[in-house]
Amino acid sequence: QWIYLNGEFVSKEDAKISVYDHGFLYGDGIFEGIRIYDGNIFKNKEHLDRLYDSAKSIMLDIPLTIEEMEAAVIETLRRNEMRDGYIRLIVSRGPGNLGLDPRRCPTASVIIIVEQLAIYSEEAYRDGLVSVSVSQRRNIPDALNPKIKSLNYLNNILVKIQANLAGVGEAIMLNAQGYVAEGSSDNIFIVKNNVVYTPPCYIGALEGITRAAIMELCEQLGYKLKEEPFTLHDVYVADEVFFTGTAAEVIAVREVDGRKIGSGKAGPITTHLLQKFRELVKVDGVR
Ligand code: PMP
Repeated sequence: QWIYLNGEFVSKEDAKISVYDHGFLYGDGIFEGIRIYDGNIFKNKEHLDRLYDSAKSIMLDIPLTIEEMEAAVIETLRRNEMRDGYIRLIVSRGPGNLGLDPRRCPTASVIIIVEQLAIYSEEAYRDGLVSVSVSQRRNIPDALNPKIKSLNYLNNILVKIQANLAGVGEAIMLNAQGYVAEGSSDNIFIVKNNVVYTPPCYIGALEGITRAAIMELCEQLGYKLKEEPFTLHDVYVADEVFFTGTAAEVIAVREVDGRKIGSGKAGPITTHLLQKFRELVKVDGVR
């Protein structure tokens, strides 16, 4: 397995960064997770745009142009003979000293890892996941800047730990006001009376690229979509609940906090959206 590390291709064993890298010391950096389906890098432009927007927002200079980054991703895929899998793009502030000051980090670190992806089973897509809400709240800095896909994932990891303790695959995180925000690494949608709802990003949700694709599909398929805040009560009484994300795609939820959702299986709108999403991933991207 070849890993792109600051312009060079190194083996997995040799892919190492400095202990002074501020990505390691402070989580100072940004990342993207991208899928490649049968040689098609899904929503490539959207992911690269989000990466470069996140970088601009935190005043991080990526030492590659967006075109060079795309070429580096394609070369990493080629070297690994990867046509189906997951691409992780990481840009950290780079090595500096022990202080916080980013001015001491002259060069950002750029890392590209491509891997096979272990995702949910087909039964999980059909039958839905069991989920729980957790006490961990979407943290304030990210709630103010939910559009930055930063390396600061401690909050999400605490949600994941609570999900693990409850024995579920994904959990639901609220914001400080108690509105439903998102999962540990997925956006959330509910369906009630044939209307599809997802929280606006200002509630504290990442502007997910799968989320955007699903919103667009809703429009194309004629489902009414509302981007508005909702609570756990709305989740419990929803007809359908599903998560979206690059890794998870569109996965139904059949139970939340012990309340059965709808029929207790993936609902018709979720199933329709998943089917259309799987058609889309083959065409919407870069070959
Ligand atoms: N929310 C969070 C916190 C995430 O980490 C992710 C996945 N990267 C998502 C939502 C889903 O976003 P996307 O569809 O762009 O993968």
